[in-house]
Amino acid sequence: MAPRATPCNTKHPHLLAFARPMSKLWDQFGAVYKIRVEETSVKNISMGLMDGKKGIVFGVANDRSLAWHIAERLHAEGAELAFTHLPPAKMERRVRILAEPLGATCIVPCDVTDDAQIKAAFQEANRQIGHLDFIIHAIAFASRSSLSNPFHKTSRADFLQAMEISAFSLVALCQHGLRYLNEGASVLTLSYLGAMKVVPQYNVMGVCKAALESSVRYLAADLGREKHIRVNAISAGPVQTLSAAGVSGFDKILRHYPQKSPLHRNIRAHEVATSGLYFLSDLSSGVTGEVHYVDAGYNTIGW
Ligand code: NAP
Repeated sequence: MAPRATPCNTKHPHLLAFARPMSKLWDQFGAVYKIRVEETSVKNISMGLMDGKKGIVFGVANDRSLAWHIAERLHAEGAELAFTHLPPAKMERRVRILAEPLGATCIVPCDVTDDAQIKAAFQEANRQIGHLDFIIHAIAFASRSSLSNPFHKTSRADFLQAMEISAFSLVALCQHGLRYLNEGASVLTLSYLGAMKVVPQYNVMGVCKAALESSVRYLAADLGREKHIRVNAISAGPVQTLSAAGVSGFDKILRHYPQKSPLHRNIRAHEVATSGLYFLSDLSSGVTGEVHYVDAGYNTIGW
């Protein structure tokens, strides 16, 4: 049966040409508005879950960084934060502009390929804010060519550099940070599904994330024994950030998730932040050595 004509599309066909794009625009506006309202309402709820807790954040590049979203959430819950940045002054400015409005005064340089800088960062954080209750490790790097060429063409130098910055750095932070961490502290890192499955162009970073996730389990066993410190990872779905832009074809991945994931959408950065809050607060006091997916369920789908 043919659809019944409405007065509008029979009498004023010229209006229809205008009305359709307008209604599409309105739907889009509605969706964006709904997301903003959801984000704002989540951000505005504070339960004081981090009152009295102090921690250090590695991996803020700008206000899109996943580390930044987690930091903002923790601050809203009462945490006191220290931040690190890569040594160049430009990087310091980028972090300072975000961190200072949160009341952070400890903003220290740290390239994780240099043990002396890691040591100095922890010493300075300890001097300024005292012993720490958490560490956020949100650091990854691989050369552009290794994220665009076929994986088997990865050079030795690119492989080792990616491993050092993206996986070993978590071990190094735990090594140097341990003496400054309180009993029962929590360490959180960020991973991606490419650790477990082949994701086009994720290449060497997938191998690094596999090493990172395995390191989480070994570190959890060591630090749990030492000081009841917990170590966990969030495996996040794709989010537009500076690092993500380095993965060639990243926008294809972004378009793929809403088609396949059980929630039929991409995740939002604030969802990584609320899960981060869970791992860094006492809400997850019995959880360690875990890799927790925040990916709209994508990892559960097998087709
Ligand atoms: P981002 O904002 O670019 O953060 C990456 C951070 O790593 C930057 O602050 C970068 O500093 C820092 N970094 C790189 N090399 C470093 C070094 N040698 N020493 C110290 N810091 C260094 O991107 P992001 O997406 O939020 O990434 C954070 C973490 O989330 C990464 O581990 C990433 O793999 C993971 N993750 C991201 C997604 C996603 O879709 N975005 C999904 C799953 C997991 P500079 O910018 O100053 O170089």
